[in-house]
Amino acid sequence: MSFDGARLANTTTKVLRAYDPGHDLPALRLRFGARLAELGSNENVLGPSPRVAAALATSIPVIFRYPDPKGTALKNALATHLKVDASRIALGNGSHELLMLLAQCFADAQVSVVHSEFGFAVFPIASAAVGAITIRVAALPSDHATAPYGHDLDAIAAAVRDDTRIVFLANPNNPTGTWFDDATLDKFLAGVPESTLVVVDEAYHEFVEDPALSSAARFLDRYPNLVVTRTFSKAYALAGLRIGYLVAHASVVDVLERLRESFNVNALALAAAEAALADADHLAHVREWTRRERDWLSEALRSRGYKVVPSQANFVLVDLARTAASLESHLFERGVIVRPMGGYGLGHALRISIGSRGENERLLAALP
Ligand SMILES: *Cc1c(COP(=O)(O)O)cnc(C)c1O
Repeated sequence: MSFDGARLANTTTKVLRAYDPGHDLPALRLRFGARLAELGSNENVLGPSPRVAAALATSIPVIFRYPDPKGTALKNALATHLKVDASRIALGNGSHELLMLLAQCFADAQVSVVHSEFGFAVFPIASAAVGAITIRVAALPSDHATAPYGHDLDAIAAAVRDDTRIVFLANPNNPTGTWFDDATLDKFLAGVPESTLVVVDEAYHEFVEDPALSSAARFLDRYPNLVVTRTFSKAYALAGLRIGYLVAHASVVDVLERLRESFNVNALALAAAEAALADADHLAHVREWTRRERDWLSEALRSRGYKVVPSQANFVLVDLARTAASLESHLFERGVIVRPMGGYGLGHALRISIGSRGENERLLAALP
């Protein structure tokens, strides 16, 4: 019999499937050149602060050295930025790594992990990777007034069991763009026991403008079981460097440190993140530009009869109320790449990132 490594995979890995990037983007860039509109990955097309290039140039001569395994300079900058002690911060190779690490360190086959239907795709993967019992809670209905397909916090609270070790929430959520406000989160946290970690993924935090939503971080002192994750991949536009962080109780960070790979964040990412964080003006420009462009695109789509889910992020979910496959391939053939939602159970929707004005116009022109 021929050798099959898959037969040797452990029990939890056996049932997992590899990440599907959707499209072969390098090949598509060759095929379409400058006409390609890449609206599938929620990247920030304005790019990072100009200070990042200078920080990278300074770092390149020393890349033969290992990076600082503690990331002290960046943690101190984040501590000042967030007004928390640096001992409460952990850095990751993207926040994706931190979500996986949280599951690895706190969940196992004896406990359950709760997440929402139409929530971020990494949550059930992190849970399955450690063999935990994954509990998926139904999302809000498609005709909900403010958050169609969004997290139903009351139902999620009701689903938490004695053995629930982690609840994963995303706010705003990807792929829906929906959000819940501070008061709703406060009430939720008050009802969850301290034996359950509540992880709030704030990958799109910097884009939020609803005054009723600041950040879960404001509740860190009141709820020691709260964990807030953020990333430099979206508003800070460092997706290619892979760096994210979390804020939690110092004892939670200490546990994560036991399993964290010592040099998980590379030297260029550390330097770039520090430079990006320091440029508040650039971030303000990103926020303002993204909001205007998102509102413009949403309006243009609505005026053509498309149903656009309200979003506080740098993408919108377009609800077609019929299968999206033919529209997706129609756009694909014209060099407009959007994210199909079949894998999320939203086969009748497409997620469209806010691109450059040129890309957004090419999307509108390519629509049937
Ligand atoms: C993009 C995204 C992340 C960020 O992932 P990184 O690994 O930091 O690039 C995390 N959570 C959500 C909900 C996202 O959409």
